[in-house]
Amino acid sequence: MIPFNKPYLTGKEAHYLYDAVYTGKLSGNGKYTQKCQNFLKEQYGFGKCLLTTSCTDALEMAAILIDIQPGDEVIMPSYTFVSTANAFVLRGAKVVFADSRKDHPGIDEDLLEALINSKTKAIVPVHYAGVACDMDKIMDIANKHNLFVIEDAAQAIDSFYTGKDGIKRALGSIGHLAAFSFHETKNIIAGEGGMLAINDPQFEKRAEIIWEKGTNRSAFFRGEVDKYGWVDMGSSFLPSELISSFLWAQIENIQDIQKVRVEHWNQYYDGLNEWVTKQEIQVPKIPDSATNNAHMFYIVCKDGEQRAEILNKLKSNDIYAVFHYLSLHTSPFYAEKHDGRHLPVTDHYSECLIRLPMYYELEDTQIEKIIQILTSS
Ligand SMILES: *Cc1c(COP(=O)(O)O)cnc(C)c1O
Repeated sequence: MIPFNKPYLTGKEAHYLYDAVYTGKLSGNGKYTQKCQNFLKEQYGFGKCLLTTSCTDALEMAAILIDIQPGDEVIMPSYTFVSTANAFVLRGAKVVFADSRKDHPGIDEDLLEALINSKTKAIVPVHYAGVACDMDKIMDIANKHNLFVIEDAAQAIDSFYTGKDGIKRALGSIGHLAAFSFHETKNIIAGEGGMLAINDPQFEKRAEIIWEKGTNRSAFFRGEVDKYGWVDMGSSFLPSELISSFLWAQIENIQDIQKVRVEHWNQYYDGLNEWVTKQEIQVPKIPDSATNNAHMFYIVCKDGEQRAEILNKLKSNDIYAVFHYLSLHTSPFYAEKHDGRHLPVTDHYSECLIRLPMYYELEDTQIEKIIQILTSS
């Protein structure tokens, strides 16, 4: 049996967890939280980093930080996970869904400008499969219309974008804010976990307050104020040290994890090359401006029928591939609220995309077997 995902342990998780437990600091914002935040900030050039209990929480923090009010509009792809939208819906925003690109499930940057009006407050690009959206285009549009950009970088750790200035920047360091996920299905995991990168310094102070239940406790611990109290709205967005100590073991090994995943990805890509061309199946395209963090290997079938056949064939060989994202604009919760525009490219991915097994411990021979099964008729 080859599962779709298998959480990888570097071996140090229990050790750091033990340390956290027996040091006696279990609640949030301790040694391991600081280590993770500092490392990620240094390594990827993010602004201030705050660990959260999920990417969902990081997105909710972002919605509070940009002060979303009922009636504000936020533009995002329909082909994404529900949390991208929910975070803004919770604050009363109207979500305006944009269609995806034909060559990539990310948001079609060329459709954005037509969706902007006086109520628009933010654009939320999702770096699908860890592959960069055209951030130059998105930032230019946002700057022109005075909008915030919040990168949903849930899948995008250790992936980069090179803009027209020739500078290579980490995804999640470009928008005003960015949200990452360390859910067990992502490259770097903590069971459940996430992070908000705060690249626009105007949000730094308030982010820390919202993170700590609306109090200035962080400033108090640094000795900047002599008592702490309720100074803003907020929630409990920070993870305990049990989560961040586990995460630290993963972060320490990020280069190794990434190297192995990219090898798996390349094996799929090369092995399936001829077959996909013959079968008119679309494979991931990494633009020159982007890098590949091998978050997922997906194929896009030519129709739903072909997808069903392929999924069946894999399943009957005990290989668990999955599909995902029922388009949000046709979801039971949002269909009635959606403005009625057809989003055919989104629907196409929704109907035709397959994610193949992808995890660190996947063996070359297993990938070879998957390739053989797919390519045999
Ligand atoms: C995984 C994911 C999320 C949610 O992450 P959690 O950490 O589970 O909250 C949000 N957006 C995208 C695009 C994701 O892939």
